[in-house]
Amino acid sequence: MNLKDNCYNPNFTHIYVEEKVFELDVTRNIISLFKRANVIPIRHYKDVFNKNSQDSLKQKESINLILAEKPDNFIYPGAKVCQSFGNAHFYYASSVMNCVFDCEYCYLKGVYPSSNVVIFVNEDDLFREVESILEENEAYISISYDTDLLPFEPLTHHVRHWMEFVDKHDNLTIELRTKSSNGRLLSELRQGINAIDRVILSFSLSPNSIANVYEKAAPSLMARIQCAMVAKEAGYPIRIAFDPMIYDVNWRDQYRGLIATVDRYLDLKSVYDVSVGSFRIPKDYLKRMRKRDPDSSIAQFPYMLEDGVYHYDNDIMEEMEGLMVEELSKYIPKDRIFLWKE
Ligand code: SF4
Repeated sequence: MNLKDNCYNPNFTHIYVEEKVFELDVTRNIISLFKRANVIPIRHYKDVFNKNSQDSLKQKESINLILAEKPDNFIYPGAKVCQSFGNAHFYYASSVMNCVFDCEYCYLKGVYPSSNVVIFVNEDDLFREVESILEENEAYISISYDTDLLPFEPLTHHVRHWMEFVDKHDNLTIELRTKSSNGRLLSELRQGINAIDRVILSFSLSPNSIANVYEKAAPSLMARIQCAMVAKEAGYPIRIAFDPMIYDVNWRDQYRGLIATVDRYLDLKSVYDVSVGSFRIPKDYLKRMRKRDPDSSIAQFPYMLEDGVYHYDNDIMEEMEGLMVEELSKYIPKDRIFLWKE
C-alpha cells in the first residue's frame, strides 16, 4: 500500500512513542514509514497530549503523532447525542484520538486539549474487550468515532483487522464513519471479506457551501460522493449522514441541492439508510470550543441549551430537520430515514 497515495498526512515531523510500546512490530512499522521524523520516547502519552498551555488551533497546521498503549476501556456505550439506528446494543470504539481533517464544528475540539493524534497500538486488547461483549449479546459498534480511521489505514491496517474480526463474529455489525475520498483503498480492504453486509460505511456529506468553508483539509463533496459510489459498487452497505446540518441563510436551497446531487450519483433509494441531524453538542464541549476559537462562527452561534446539550433554537432545528426528512421521503422510504432524537 502506497503511503503517499493513501494517507492524508504522510508528513508527521515528530513521533512521540511510549517506551512500553517501542518494541512492538506495529510501532516499528509505523515509525519506518516516516524516515525523516524525529522519534521521541516518552513515559506516557498524557505527558505530551495533556500538556498545559497548548495552542491546539495552531497544532492543526502541523499535527504530530503519538503512539501509545491504552490500558482499558476501548469500547463505550453510545453517547446521548448520537444515533443508535435502532440497535439495542450500540457502542463506539476509541482506538485513535483526533483526526487529520479539520472540521470547524468537530466536537473533538471541545474534548481534547491537543490536536495531535494518538494511535493506541495494542489493538489485541481492544478485540479481547469486544469479544467479552459479544459473549453476552450482539453488538453494533461505531469504530471511527473519535477520529476518521481511513487516513491512518496505511499505518495501522486497523480497519482491515476490524473487518476480519467481523467475519469471525456473526453477532457483530460495525459502522465506519468517514469523509474519505479513497475508493480504491475501500475496494482493496473489502477483498476476501464475506460479511461485508455487516460493515456499514457512513459518508458524512454537507453542501459545497458548508464543506468548502467549515470542513478544512477534508475531501470535497464530489470526491466523497465518488468514493461512496466505488464503495457501493464494491458491496458495502452505504449510509449517507446529513449530519451535522449547519445553519446558513441559504440552508434550504443548499440542502435541497445536496439531496438532488446525492440522488443523481448514488440513487438514494438503493442506499442502506440515511441519517439526519442538525448540529448539537454537549455543553462543556461547546464551552471549550468557544474559548479555543473566538472567531469561529459555528462555536459562537447563539444556540439554546437544553438538558446539557446546545442546539439550534427549536424553530430552526425543527424546520431544518423537518424539511430534510420531507425532501428525503421523496427518494427513500421513511423507515430508512433516521432522525436524531435525544
Ligand atoms: S472528519 Fe469527523 S472526526 Fe475528523 S475533524 Fe471532521 S468531524 Fe471531526
